[in-house]
Amino acid sequence: AKPPLQRYEYSRPQMGTIFRVVLFAPSESIAKVAAEAALNRVDTLNQILSDYIPDSELNKLSATAGTIQAVPLSPDLWAVLQKSQRVSRKTNGAFDVTVGPVVQLWRRARRQHQMPSPEALIKAQATTGYQHIILKKKQKTAQLLVPGMQLDMGAIGKGYAVDEAMRVLQQHKIKIALVDGGGNIRVSQAPPGTPGWEIDLSISNETDHIGGQKIYLKNAGVATSGDLYQFVEINGQRYSHIINPFTGLGLTDQRRVTIVAKNGTDADWLSTALSVLPTAQGIKLANRTPQAAASIVWNTNGKLQQAQSRRFRQLKWVK
Ligand code: ADP
Ligand code: MG
Ligand code: MG
Repeated sequence: AKPPLQRYEYSRPQMGTIFRVVLFAPSESIAKVAAEAALNRVDTLNQILSDYIPDSELNKLSATAGTIQAVPLSPDLWAVLQKSQRVSRKTNGAFDVTVGPVVQLWRRARRQHQMPSPEALIKAQATTGYQHIILKKKQKTAQLLVPGMQLDMGAIGKGYAVDEAMRVLQQHKIKIALVDGGGNIRVSQAPPGTPGWEIDLSISNETDHIGGQKIYLKNAGVATSGDLYQFVEINGQRYSHIINPFTGLGLTDQRRVTIVAKNGTDADWLSTALSVLPTAQGIKLANRTPQAAASIVWNTNGKLQQAQSRRFRQLKWVK
């Protein structure tokens, strides 16, 4: 007979957050080896995708911007960049990994509590635009056409990382697991004796609460965007760390987007895209995306309002 499965949990700081692995395994030694391998995979992806590490593959690519060089990419950077470009086309540029120079201006604004100057913003905006990335599928190369371009995978990298961590767990014969990278969640099949992983999607503000929103989930990804801490307040206006690529400004209308999708990558990019797009357009995009479900919550005079996509209503809610 097989030994009964037990629950194990491991975590490691990475990508500016904590990555947590919950898994069921027949013994601690098996659990530990698998979790280590999964978390090492996240380390490797950070070396590739980080815009903080000076010699990350992403930053090396950005450094070639404006030259005639087509740069060969690793399979991971190729996969994430190709996905990003497809998403940019699908969202008409609401999601755009070339926002790097604008993101950096807003990071400085957050440190100094001062708006980026209009001149700096215009200059940064001139170096953005996903249309300026040329991908060659056969050679798996990328070329960045405009000098000063800087790629930023902040809106998709953690989702991709939780998917890859799950893949490594499965290679280690772990069939039942959850990977959480700072709210980017990927779950496998259901834990023993349950209808799924219990995930709490409830939302509250100071005065209101949208509760009772716990779901059972399996073989899926979850992400939320528009967290209530990552913003800068200047002259009483809050600017989010998510940028509207059309204006170069941090988002000012506060909403909380929750996505359930077929994997962590989809959940991550969708949650960012639906933060930028007008609500109705975002819900339509979610309805068009296979297996995706979306909720957008916003605040009108202390009262929380919610828009839901078709599949969001059909989720398996915990009674
Ligand atoms: P989180 O910080 O929780 O991962 P997101 O997934 O929405 O939230 O990613 C936000 C990050 O993505 C920003 O910090 C920035 O690095 C980058 N970013 C900001 N605006 C955009 C955008 N419109 N498209 C793509 N990436 C963006
Ligand atoms: Mg995202
Ligand atoms: Mg994210």
